[in-house]
Amino acid sequence: MIIVMRAGSKRDQIEDVVARVEEAGFTAHLSEGAERTIIGVIGDDRPIERQAFEVMEGVEKTVPILKPFKLASRDFNTANSTVSINGVEVGGNKIAIIAGPCSVESREQLLETAHAVKEAGAIALRGGAFKPRSSPYSFQGMGEEGLKILAEAREQTDLAVVTEVMTPEHIPLVNEYADVLQIGARNMQNYELLKAVGRNGPPVLLKRGLMATMEEFLMSAEYILSHGNRKVILCERGIRTFETYTRNTTDINAVPVLKSLTHLPVILDPSHAVGKWEFVTAIARAGIAAGADGLMVEVHPEPEKALSDGGQSLKPQKFADLVNQVRTIATAIGRD
Ligand code: PEP
Ligand code: MN
Repeated sequence: MIIVMRAGSKRDQIEDVVARVEEAGFTAHLSEGAERTIIGVIGDDRPIERQAFEVMEGVEKTVPILKPFKLASRDFNTANSTVSINGVEVGGNKIAIIAGPCSVESREQLLETAHAVKEAGAIALRGGAFKPRSSPYSFQGMGEEGLKILAEAREQTDLAVVTEVMTPEHIPLVNEYADVLQIGARNMQNYELLKAVGRNGPPVLLKRGLMATMEEFLMSAEYILSHGNRKVILCERGIRTFETYTRNTTDINAVPVLKSLTHLPVILDPSHAVGKWEFVTAIARAGIAAGADGLMVEVHPEPEKALSDGGQSLKPQKFADLVNQVRTIATAIGRD
């Protein structure tokens, strides 16, 4: 960071700041201008609490130079990193499609959906067994029984299983059945959960928080990476804005911006982003055109009977159409 001293700051104030910088284990580089002095802190000063310097006598402000995220940053890894799911390198040239119902509701519902999305070209099956519902009175998911059904669907179709984990205590159980652990939007800043999946083995699909900035999103990824798990896929799922006609507002900007800030794969969930099935395909096309590495789409054989998110779920035929349209776009931009 750079510490900017106030105009007319006293020599002893400057010396105090330099002493504090050195005490913290860094080198201070002084640049004395006609009006003010600026002090450059040399080294990886991310652990320093900048405010502690801002309250020192004679200091006007501090300016960070390094991005607050390190392992997630493009500076750390200039090439795209990839996460292998079911033999597909997500983040590579191939567009990865994950699809399935919002929630696992029954064996029949899940198996039917699994076969349909496999047929249409998905590489992984999604389905929540532990559901983060806004209301405690809404369906909360089937728990372990749901996980067992997901595992049966994997056996039948060879699709990888992506499912949400809501608490660190559930991780060992979810590990037994899932290939990829999803962290939902509501838990994006549940730091104990992030640390726990960071210490865990399987890949993590991290969804953007409801009102999280891209920097906050990347700092959450940094938690997982810094605890040892380098297999992180970011998922843009829309953010809350003043607009109420759609459930969320797809932050299409986030796709290319995240791709420039981080080497991690970025996928888009058009279902939660727009929240109405009739717009899901258009938003999916936009996501791929903007450079997303994949999609996560909610599909249900009978959306009118769904226990969660039926209004944004595509019927299998509509999902197959989506995949075909997305394929055309992928080809047009030189991707598989
Ligand atoms: C989901 O994927 O079903 C879900 C709950 O999504 P989000 O966490 O993005 O709201
Ligand atoms: Mn859902």
